[in-house]
This record gives sequence, C-alpha cells and structure tokens, in this order.
Amino acid sequence: MSVPFIDLKRYEPGFLDNWYEKVQQLSKNTAFIGGSEVATIEENIKRNCQVEYAISCANGTDALQIALRAVGVDRNDFVLLPDATFWATFEAIVNVGANPVPVDISEDDLQMDFDLFVQAAEKYKPKAAILVHLYGWGSSRIEDFRSYCTNNNIKLIEDGAQSYGVNYNNESIYKNALVSTISFYPAKVYGAAGDAGAIATSNEELSSKIRSICNHGRSEHYSYQFVGWNSRMDTLQAAFLNLIQPHLADRIKSRQKSALWYRTELQGSDDFKHIKVPNRYIENGYLNCLIIKSEKRDAICDHLKSKETGFGIVYPEPMSIQLGAQPYLQEKFHNPVALKLSKCVLSLPLFANMTEDELYEVKTVFLEAIEKS
Ligand SMILES: *Cc1c(COP(=O)(O)O)cnc(C)c1O
Repeated sequence: MSVPFIDLKRYEPGFLDNWYEKVQQLSKNTAFIGGSEVATIEENIKRNCQVEYAISCANGTDALQIALRAVGVDRNDFVLLPDATFWATFEAIVNVGANPVPVDISEDDLQMDFDLFVQAAEKYKPKAAILVHLYGWGSSRIEDFRSYCTNNNIKLIEDGAQSYGVNYNNESIYKNALVSTISFYPAKVYGAAGDAGAIATSNEELSSKIRSICNHGRSEHYSYQFVGWNSRMDTLQAAFLNLIQPHLADRIKSRQKSALWYRTELQGSDDFKHIKVPNRYIENGYLNCLIIKSEKRDAICDHLKSKETGFGIVYPEPMSIQLGAQPYLQEKFHNPVALKLSKCVLSLPLFANMTEDELYEVKTVFLEAIEKS
C-alpha cells in the first residue's frame, strides 16, 4: 500500500459540487476581483486568528514583503530571521532592499534561538525581525521575543505561514503579535485553489498602511501616497477558502489526531525522536517532524521510497549556506545547530483525513526502515 506525503484530494462529500457551482456563478457575474467573497474571507480570518484587522493579499511571500514595508523597513536596514525556514522569509527581506541576518535555531523547539537573537540584535541594531512559527507550533520563548522587540523598538513580524490553527495559551498564536503573515498555498493547513495570503494585525495604523500598500499605495482611486504593490487575493481564491471554512476545524482536528498518533505510536529510540511541542502550545498538525541519526537518514529514506511511503526533508539546508544568499550576507554566518539539524530532520506523511490504515502502514514501513538502517 502506498501512502503519499500529502494528499490534497480528500475533499468532504459535496465540497467539489459546491465549488463547481460557485465557479459558475462567479464566472457568469465576472466577479473576479474583490466583492463579498473577499470581504467574507477577511472576516473569517479575523475571527479565526482573533485579530482586529485582516488584509488579504496574493500569497504568503507578498504578505512578508508588505509587512516589512508597513513597519518601516527601508534600504540597508538589518532584519533578523531564523536560519532554518523556507526561503521566502529570506527573500522577502532582500526584496525590500534590507539586509538579512540569519540567527541559529534552538535544538529543543527548532525555532529561532532567543539568546542568540539578543546577541545578534545588540550587534546589528535591526529595524525589524521575522520570527517564523515552523512545523505547526512556535517558539517556547515567544513572549520573550515579543517583549524584547517591543522594549528595543524592533518591529517583530511573525511569519505564520505554517501556523494557522496553532494555539498558544488557548488563544490563536496570531492574537498577540504586532503583525503576522499567513499563506494559503494549497499545501498549507488552510489551502486555497492556487496562491493566496493575508496579513493579520490588531494595530489600526499598521492595518491601513498595509491595505494601501497592497493596493498600489493608493489614498484615493488615482492618488498614491507611496509606491506600493499590486497584491490582491482574487475572488475565486477567497470563495474556495470560504467554502472550506465550515470544514476547517475538522480538518485541523484530523491533522492533530494523526500528529498525536505518531507521537504515541512511534516511541523514540537511539535512532530517532520527536520534537516535543513546547509548553502552552497546541499544535495544528501541519507537519510531522522527526529527528533521525544523520548517518542513518539516507538508508531510511531509501527504504521508505522502496515501499512507496512518502516523506519530506524540511528543510535540507539552512538559509545562510544557499548560493543565492551569499551576496546579501554581512559576514559568513556559522549556525551549527541549524546545519546539524538540517541533516537529521525527516517528516512522515501528515495531512487532513488520513486513514488509520495509512497511519499503520507508515508506522510499519518506518520501523522496518529503522531496523534495516
Ligand atoms: C509557505 C511559506 C511561505 C510563503 O508562502 P507562499 O504563499 O507560498 O508565498 C513563507 N514562509 C513560510 C515559513 C512558509 O512555509
């Protein structure tokens, strides 16, 4: 039995019929930009994320660039980010003309290391920082990051591309952020039928600046207060996400159940362990994340491949050693933990509506792979 790493085709009964009908209706009315679907998704995001303002945009990378611009990041400013993240986080900083400073991660939660962050902040005096909530939880030091940044006038942007549905202290992780960014890329927890993104904040001034930047820096229809962007979530994407909304809680529950199943059924050993979800968090089940003995990982992957069991390596290399990063780095960054862990991470299949048979199959094949490696 083969098990894919991710399967996005497990629609709820009737979902596709509703979608086809929606596409027909929107197409008939040429309702392609803006309108009530976009207004509704923004209301849904506000409610889900417990924030005062949600501004939809074209994708999660744009969301980061727009947030950086909105908090005032300018040419040659320094911006701190974790060295282990998706490339878009790094790219966004460069694309607004700023200098990225990659900071090493913590071995305990795989998120940016707070103590090293403080050291880097003292050295570089950054205008802003991006804290990334990876794998379906966030940093155990999230409150330290937030208060340090507030006290030192560093604008903290939280890259929440992977954290839709993550709770911290029984509230949405987005709730107490200055500004967070969201991606609705199809493979994310809340996935669209293409690209889409959003920015969430409870700061009114920031929200109006963000809305204007997303819309060419407009103040009125043909008046522009600054050079912005064209970054809109199109109506079809908004409509697709609105159709998912009644199923979203169940999709997240299903992911959380499978994530927990792996944690209980696959007891760690000398060869592998789970990353523990930090205290006060409820994970959203975005990703399973195992730490494997690095010298065994290739053999384990080979066995999984031979049995058609999907897996992912998220992420195989830190940002600071990417070829494309070199022209933008101030110095050679040696981030030993990010480098070491990139050789150890392995993710097993995890998506909404996985079956119990699939989970058992993954367990069996994975344990065989460990045995053989
Ligand atoms: C997916 C992702 C992004 C980019 O989102 P897109 O919608 O694909 O542009 C940014 N940061 C992280 C951590 C991501 O996982």
